Amino acid sequence: MRTEAVRKIVYDIMTTTFTAPCGTEYRARYNGWVFSWMRSKRILGQVRTNSTWKVIRISKAHAQHSEIEHIVDTIRHEVAHAMAIDLYGCYDHGITWKQCAVACGANPERYACDVDMGVSKYTLTCPNCGDEVKKHRRPKRNQACSNCCDKLNGGKYTEAFKFKITQNY
Ligand SMILES: [Zn+2]
Ligand SMILES: [Zn+2]
Repeated sequence: MRTEAVRKIVYDIMTTTFTAPCGTEYRARYNGWVFSWMRSKRILGQVRTNSTWKVIRISKAHAQHSEIEHIVDTIRHEVAHAMAIDLYGCYDHGITWKQCAVACGANPERYACDVDMGVSKYTLTCPNCGDEVKKHRRPKRNQACSNCCDKLNGGKYTEAFKFKITQNY
């Protein structure tokens, strides 16, 4: 059956070693990624991550009806997302993902997919008002709550309202 053949290709690609842009050897399967089908006809593939699981999903309709090269490209595309997320904390189709796509043999100009993050990697919490900001990367510079700085400190940065950073996974 077509879907079984595609499932096999998915596992092959997920266990293939790709050399990431930074030179790291990367295998999605050994970084905790699993595979599942999804029903969507609109979205061909998807990666979903949250605090406990990482899933590469491929549309069953796509697997049954598309050209095999296109399906393979979609799988490589999703594995490139897995690489970009695990190694670089990137969740978009930006330059880092494009480099990962090339490293995984996917077409970097095609994206019929989306990335669904149940939980952001970091949460910034204001110690004063409790406001939360979701971040996918750890901020490089200290950041303070803009609500509180604006309201109580004339719009200037102050340690008093510096965000507390929580890593969610
Ligand atoms: Zn994508
Ligand atoms: Zn605040």
